[in-house]
Amino acid sequence: MATQRYEVTSPDRQSQMAVPRPDGDVLSALLRDTGMTVLVMLAEKYGLRRVPGLGKAQIIERMLRRLSPEDQKRLEEELIAARYGQASIDDLLDIVLEHDAGHPAGRPRLEEMSTGDATLVEAGSRRWVYTMRGHDVVIDLAGRVLACDCAFFGFASKRQMPCKHLVTALRLVPPVYAREVLIDLAVARRFGGHGSRWNFEGHRAA
Ligand SMILES: [Zn+2]
Repeated sequence: MATQRYEVTSPDRQSQMAVPRPDGDVLSALLRDTGMTVLVMLAEKYGLRRVPGLGKAQIIERMLRRLSPEDQKRLEEELIAARYGQASIDDLLDIVLEHDAGHPAGRPRLEEMSTGDATLVEAGSRRWVYTMRGHDVVIDLAGRVLACDCAFFGFASKRQMPCKHLVTALRLVPPVYAREVLIDLAVARRFGGHGSRWNFEGHRAA
């Protein structure tokens, strides 16, 4: 995996939290969204000597500059687990489906669907295919593929907004797997980056 380079954040970038950015920015966005006390504690935990008088931006800059790529990855996972480790499927869906005013696709009409509409047609190792209301939905954790053949998905998948069929399928697969998908998508929505771990395929992927 390529080593990420992290840049010091400038104030004008802090106002762009909602815009998806490359993976490398996720950790800096998570750190900016972390309180001072925890930041100081984390810096020490990751082996940085405490330097009195540093401001928040300087502490973050120092962490991004001094921690090894492996430690940065670990820190990122730790921050994500702290933030979303206790979140329910519904909590995570609320984040993932947050209305995006800048995008005309809007939210999927979840009220039109129920889990009773779905038929499981294939269940493999970390892979499920459902058919519902004339559409086929694929959740493939091994291949990191999320797919549906509906028009909404084709349109909204560019913003990694799941369609109502995919949301229905996510309510049917074992929660531990649904949470794995949804945490990535929630991080992507709030902090950028992580959604690129998932390939949203607009066409039938089976
Ligand atoms: Zn769909």
